[in-house]
Amino acid sequence: MNTIRSVADLRAELAPARAAGRTIGLVPTMGSFHEGHLSLMRAARAENDVVVVSLFVNPAQFGPGEDLDAYPRDEARDSAFAQGEDVDLLFVPPAGEVYPDGFSTQVTVRGLTDVLDGDRNRRGAAHFAGVTTVVAKLLNMVGPSAAYFGQKDAQQALVIQRMARDLDVPARIEVRPTVREPDGLAMSSRNAYLEPEERERAVALSRALEAAESTVACGERAAEPVLAAARAELDRAGIAPEYVELRCATDLSAVERVNGSTLLAVAAQVGRAHLIDNKVLGGPQ
Ligand code: AMP
Repeated sequence: MNTIRSVADLRAELAPARAAGRTIGLVPTMGSFHEGHLSLMRAARAENDVVVVSLFVNPAQFGPGEDLDAYPRDEARDSAFAQGEDVDLLFVPPAGEVYPDGFSTQVTVRGLTDVLDGDRNRRGAAHFAGVTTVVAKLLNMVGPSAAYFGQKDAQQALVIQRMARDLDVPARIEVRPTVREPDGLAMSSRNAYLEPEERERAVALSRALEAAESTVACGERAAEPVLAAARAELDRAGIAPEYVELRCATDLSAVERVNGSTLLAVAAQVGRAHLIDNKVLGGPQ
């Protein structure tokens, strides 16, 4: 595996593969790898000739009071994990390579970024503008055949799919299932912030999704009782959610009833960790 830090070197490394018509899979990450990241690397490895993993803690997607400085960083550890997944290129650009002096461009997706995490009382649409700008850049830098994202960040995945469609990005945007701890907690780099007692309570997020799913499985379709089942689990753990919402899984519009394509999304601050989770109710995962 080669570790590369400049766009020029990245392009030079990929040129022969591109000229030979080989497929290139890209997995964008902020590092601190866990099984969720590794599952995306495995998917990229299974479906492409060349696998590129980018590791960049993107300042543009962190808000003022957020955890940019505290965000866990360990390139040596991440590099060993990527090597273990047979990744070909680890792209670790310094911030100046991504945002050179005079950087003035922003890619924004309207509508989808106004709700859930994009609500201005929460992380705000600026968070997603930071994400879409850096992902657009990574797609241009690498020129992949496919790029891989996790369903764990369901809203982010939808926003990126919309951006790629709207901008005619010549890459497939692949979204893969959420990888969970044995007790159900969605894996996240931010779980490292949880104290033991908080870690125990944090499982309430996935339990809330399960409780709502059980309610749907029993035939309930109205939003309020389904949401009430989810809220009750969070309540039991003493967690006051930022939001628990049902939304259309394809365009995030509000829904009054659960149908085959309804996303239940939850977010909560637990100790120092901002946690999110989601489930497509009645769906495959
Ligand atoms: P991050 O490093 O947190 O920006 O995540 C990089 C990619 O991994 C994003 O596409 C995330 O959606 C994905 N990801 C993060 N956690 C998980 C998880 N538990 N399961 C599946 N994918 C995940």
